[in-house]
Amino acid sequence: MEQFLSNPFTQPLYFFRLTAIIFAITFIRYLVVSGVYHYLFFVWLRPTFQKRIITVQTISKRQMRQEVWRSFLTSFIFAFSGSALVIFWQKGWTQIYIDWNAYPIWYLPLSLLLALLVHETYYYWLHRWMHLPKVYKWVHKWHHDSIETSSLTAFSFHPIESILQAIVVPILILCIPLNIYILFILLLIMTLSGTINHAGVEIFPKGFERHWLGKWLIGASHHDLHHKQFRYNFGLYFTFWDHWMKTESPKYERHFRAHTGNEVKN
Ligand SMILES: [Zn+2]
Ligand SMILES: [Zn+2]
Repeated sequence: MEQFLSNPFTQPLYFFRLTAIIFAITFIRYLVVSGVYHYLFFVWLRPTFQKRIITVQTISKRQMRQEVWRSFLTSFIFAFSGSALVIFWQKGWTQIYIDWNAYPIWYLPLSLLLALLVHETYYYWLHRWMHLPKVYKWVHKWHHDSIETSSLTAFSFHPIESILQAIVVPILILCIPLNIYILFILLLIMTLSGTINHAGVEIFPKGFERHWLGKWLIGASHHDLHHKQFRYNFGLYFTFWDHWMKTESPKYERHFRAHTGNEVKN
């Protein structure tokens, strides 16, 4: 182990084993979370959530197979990023900490918010760049092949886009001191937001589109319009960049109200 820690790249078997384990966890987690979330809202709670379903057409088997295959490739790339993260940590290069007293207690939520804001800013501008016509066809088109989305779309990216997304967490942990549990919460938020935003069912409460906090959060109706309209709603977790850069869809509030049982008014 000590020899590995001095130079992990002299132990390729360890690196590949680690990557294989992280790949299995990532891909199985994707299938389980997508499956359970879909079953929950489209089967089990369907009578309650019927009016909140955004998906207008049934997703074809062909689209589902394509999304699972693309997510398989994405999981593989994310697994390399996960291995890099573990190795950085073992080498002592990261700012990850375990001791709760290393930083004041108020720093825990602040560090989570900071990581989310940095990720949001990176993703918003990456996303705007990926929509430039020349870049779009090589990098981002795979994700937009799904016009009607489902929870399976959450990881359906071209490998180049997956790499651009996978570098975020290893860079974050090199720059921002994060408690290990805050890092797990961050990874959980990433998984849940991808699932919620693509699942084709609005779960936010009525009136959230104008709520003081809700209007800053991205949910299924918001991201659905990105897949339908292409030129609006580029954000990941929050709407502030879309607000500032005037890229929020003018149809958003109406679309949200139409799927939360609210009367649709202009
Ligand atoms: Zn896009
Ligand atoms: Zn999407």
